[in-house]
Order: sequence, then C-alpha cells, then structure tokens
Amino acid sequence: MPELPEVETTRRGIAPHVTGRSVLRVDVYDRRLRWPVPDDLDARLRGALIDRVDRRSKYLLLRVGPSALLVHLGMTGSLRIWREPPPRMAHDHVDIVFDDGTTLRYRDPRRFGAMLWIPSAVERHPLLASLGPEPFDAAFDADYLWRTTRSRRAAIKLALMDNRVVTGVGNIYANETLFRSGIHPALSANRVSRARLARVVENVRAVLTEAIAKGGSTLRDYVGSDGSTGYFQLEYFVYGRAGEACRVCGTTIRSSRLGGRSSFHCLRCQRR
Ligand SMILES: [Zn+2]
Repeated sequence: MPELPEVETTRRGIAPHVTGRSVLRVDVYDRRLRWPVPDDLDARLRGALIDRVDRRSKYLLLRVGPSALLVHLGMTGSLRIWREPPPRMAHDHVDIVFDDGTTLRYRDPRRFGAMLWIPSAVERHPLLASLGPEPFDAAFDADYLWRTTRSRRAAIKLALMDNRVVTGVGNIYANETLFRSGIHPALSANRVSRARLARVVENVRAVLTEAIAKGGSTLRDYVGSDGSTGYFQLEYFVYGRAGEACRVCGTTIRSSRLGGRSSFHCLRCQRR
C-alpha cells in the first residue's frame, strides 16, 4: 500500500511534468473508485492551468487557483507520466492529457483510490480539515507531541498512526520509528517522557527521509515506458521480521496485534 514516502515520491515524479501545463482534456474510463470520479471532471479541468502539486498526508493536490484535484492512491493506485501513452489497459481508469501531449494516467487495480474535485476552501474539505501536522512541519515537535499525548492512554504506536496527531505515519514507519527510539509499541502514549518523544520526532523524520531518498532512485519509472511499478523498500529493522534476529542485538523479533494492525518489536531494544 502506498504510504507517505511513495506518495511524496509520486509528487516529485509528476510535478515537473504537469506544473505550469494546462489541461487539454480528461478521459475517464471508469468512475468507480472509492468515491465516484465526478461526472464533470473533464468540463472542470479543460483549459485549467496546474499551478503546483502539493501533498497533504497521503493526498496529492493538483492546485488550480483556489481549487484542487485531490488524488488518493488507495491500496494499489499509481500515477504515471507518458509522452506517448500506450493503449489503455484494464486497470487504467483516468487520463489527464495536457497541452504538450503529456498524459498523466491513473491506474488502480483494486479501485480503493480517489479522484475528487474541490472547487474552493481546499484545506477545509472533510478529508483534509481534521488532519494534524505533517511530520516535517516545525509545529510537529517534542512539546507538541508531549501535550497531545498526555490524555492518551492508548498505545504510543496508535497515537503515531492517528492522523489527527501527525499525518501520514503508516504501520511500517510507526514500527520502525519506535524501534529506533527504543520504545515498546504497546506503551501507553501518556507514559512516554518528553525526552523519548523528542527521539520519536527525530526518528519519524529520519525514517521517512530515508524512504523518500530511496524512492528518488525510482523517479525515472514515472517517465519510463516499461510499465513496471516503482515502489521500493527500506531495509527494515523490525517490520515484517517476526521470528528473525534483531539487527542490533540478535534477540528474536516478536509480533503482536495493536489496534488490529501487526506490530513488531525487539524486547531487548525496546522498553516499556
Ligand atoms: Zn534488539
């Protein structure tokens, strides 16, 4: 599933090709995504100039004046730039064709993604309004995380994955962040000290930065013609490694369920 680094990599991959371009037409082949693609998307976007491409949490925002086209990749969505698009394949649902012939193609086999038009007040859209700060925002610091977690008795891992606390930290990156911070994922959020939360802030950023940097090497895939997907993996310390030896101390990595998601930890490196 695309997480924040994949979405940011996608943003960096498509932005240079669509920023400052105007839309020639939109071809919607299948409207049935998580929510229906608007009927009038072609009418709305035809002639529109893309000012820039932003990312908020895992949403991409193609800005057009006070409006935006919101794109979410869901479980299996991807965006690809084509100079000369090949014939449409079964899971290609939307083509946005630009004035220079460039095509931005949305593909999504499982169709849990979304493509919505927000006419104005973009940040107040229900999908965006309650989002907490971005991990790289200055507002996301140890003091903020300390204040926000004092009343939360739920596990620190669940707090990290709560989009109202900080956006875009999915299961993989929450697991890896807590390993690097030496914190047991099931520890109650309100029992984590300010000093340890400072390490969490630092490590969330480090883990995401490394993942985005890895994604950088796949950017060519978004302009390429081989049709391969460009997703990537960090070498994880704990995620998906239950039963294997901790890379730091050799202790067997354990897994458990937290909030319905798989959690991975090393009992020696991570303390309650
Ligand atoms: Zn260990």
